[in-house]
Amino acid sequence: MNFAWNSDQVAFRALVRDFLDANLPDNWENIAHGPGSEAQSIFSKQFCGALADAGLLVPHWPASWGGRDADPWTAFILAEEMWAAGEPRGGQYMNVNWIGPTLMRYGSERQQARYIPPMARGETLWCQGFSEPEAGSDLASLRTRADQHGADYVVNGQKIWTSYAGLADTCFLLARTSPGKGGISIFLLPMDTPGITVRQIPSIIGEGDIHEVFFDDVKVPADAMLGAEGQAWEIVRTALSLERVGIPRFALASRMLHRAVEALKTQGRFGTGRGAGAVEQAARAHAACEVARLYSYNIIDQRCQGQPPGPEASAARVATVNAERLVNEFVVEHLPDALAGGDALLLAHHQRAIVAGIASGAAEIQLNLIATELLQLPREPR
Ligand SMILES: Cc1cc2nc3c(=O)[nH]c(=O)nc-3n(C[C@H](O)[C@H](O)[C@H](O)COP(=O)(O)OP(=O)(O)OC[C@H]3O[C@@H](n4cnc5c(N)ncnc54)[C@H](O)[C@@H]3O)c2cc1C
Repeated sequence: MNFAWNSDQVAFRALVRDFLDANLPDNWENIAHGPGSEAQSIFSKQFCGALADAGLLVPHWPASWGGRDADPWTAFILAEEMWAAGEPRGGQYMNVNWIGPTLMRYGSERQQARYIPPMARGETLWCQGFSEPEAGSDLASLRTRADQHGADYVVNGQKIWTSYAGLADTCFLLARTSPGKGGISIFLLPMDTPGITVRQIPSIIGEGDIHEVFFDDVKVPADAMLGAEGQAWEIVRTALSLERVGIPRFALASRMLHRAVEALKTQGRFGTGRGAGAVEQAARAHAACEVARLYSYNIIDQRCQGQPPGPEASAARVATVNAERLVNEFVVEHLPDALAGGDALLLAHHQRAIVAGIASGAAEIQLNLIATELLQLPREPR
């Protein structure tokens, strides 16, 4: 592994930073950043449109789909800079990271033509309809049903914790078409289809983030199915392996740690008096951010070498969760006043960090994968 950035990568990072400087409002760091809020979603569409015009929304996509065939490093540098800035793309990071590439791989020509171009222009927002009240980590036990009736399927059931559902245009929906793990199928479902009810779940993680979604006799044409009936498990495995390292949350965590330390130093509270333990704690949090960064870089390096996604991606995700948590603990302990409305970006990091290790899937599941697939530890006998 070569740890030095080449001149093209340095220039690309500078280009992204210049774009952010030119396109984020002056008060960006002082306004509420709820990723699912209406204000953020409106801003993100406009911001992603500008990114697309500048060739910076999907540079890693094939040129035939509006990208520039850029390598995985380019995509990751872009994502790092976006997250370090507080992720102005809002929920659109999902389209860019995994929904678009998954449709390119498994979508029909009609689905690709309908959905991919608006994503590449930054116009659409998707939501991910996986989790249910009785099916989160154990996704295979999901109960939302899609029953075939002639040329249509009829969907009945409930999803929960669905991010961005209130404002999303389309749902990447998992539903059961027959019993068992091999009986789950994916539907690309417009959110304005009759029979869908979205209820926001009030939470401390920010306005408009999580929802319950109810499906009552929702009629879906058979050509809305992604891939074949029962292929969801294979497709989702591929899609989530893209998601696991697609989100460099450590970049925001690292920046927030430095911000908090600077604030404490300015106030003469870093390493003195009650803040005496802060230096060691900050050092630990910083080390955790660097560990997450290097684990993630390792995965990007593997991708560049054409290696298939492996269990190392789980290690990168766990390291990122750890970094977010340690930075968050540091801020809560030493700079709690900043979270009480004093610093919008620190608050945004805090809101994301409190769900780190449960949103995007429980970290313990990743630990299981590390134990069995990476370390090859024996499974506990049943
Ligand atoms: C902010 C937020 C946003 C979300 N957005 C979405 C979204 O957009 N779309 C979507 O579909 N879902 C979303 N989710 C749901 C998320 O994916 C689930 O919460 C997650 O998969 C865990 O499922 P669960 O909540 O049912 O918890 P459970 O599966 O019940 O797990 C609870 C805890 O039990 C333990 N546990 C469970 N199983 C095991 C195991 N096999 N081994 C070891 N420990 C285990 C873990 O400690 C885990 O943290 C979101 C969640 C949050 C908090």
